[in-house]
Amino acid sequence: MIRVTVWNENYHEQKYEDVRAIYPEGIHGCIASFLGKNEQYQVQTATLDQPHCGLPDDVLEQTDVLIWWGHCRHAYVPDELAEKVHQRVLRGMGLIVLHSGHNSKPFKLLMGTSCSLQWREGDRERVWNIMPTHPIAQGIGDYFELPVEEMYGERFDIPQPDGTLFLGWFAGGEVFRSGCIWYRGLGRVFYFQPGHERNPTFWHPDVQRIIYNAVEWAAPSRIADSLDCPHAKVSPEEKLQMK
Ligand code: ZN
Repeated sequence: MIRVTVWNENYHEQKYEDVRAIYPEGIHGCIASFLGKNEQYQVQTATLDQPHCGLPDDVLEQTDVLIWWGHCRHAYVPDELAEKVHQRVLRGMGLIVLHSGHNSKPFKLLMGTSCSLQWREGDRERVWNIMPTHPIAQGIGDYFELPVEEMYGERFDIPQPDGTLFLGWFAGGEVFRSGCIWYRGLGRVFYFQPGHERNPTFWHPDVQRIIYNAVEWAAPSRIADSLDCPHAKVSPEEKLQMK
């Protein structure tokens, strides 16, 4: 059983009719609905407008993989909560950051850089699968196309990824590291670029497959109770001699 929490700032869907038309249950509702088809997942949603921004301590502690979508409300996420997410990842929780979540507080804490990029709305994107042996790329062909997606272009100010899985090419000429992974502490982080709120990207079968695969990959094999430095009072050799 993998416990997945899909977090969304849930702002555009409430404010704009055209966004609501694409995601009537919100982006979080769309993602939760396709992930929820797997009976091995326990999927819940959380939104910024809920108490504790949807992520009280007990929810965060009982989440194996957190999915994060945010855009224009990053500043409304308290620093304290961002730090809790950061620490939870270091102790083993998986984190999947989608699209404009590149600018979210938890992602920037985990990366330690500005995570800035260049952008332009309404371009055609071809997403190339450049690490087809990686678990997150399973079931994805050489490439797939998104007829309309927001252009995110280099330079993407991130630390060197531990793996670059997807490369986005845009009809306007830019390229982008569209799918990257990092190991942080015991946790695994996946950033995936497609997913602008005005495009039906999260209904695309390849996008759904990638998020599904990413949940499987990011699910923790081990969670630490603490990040304290343990005092190794007795060495392994001393333990052997004591037997
Ligand atoms: Zn966007």
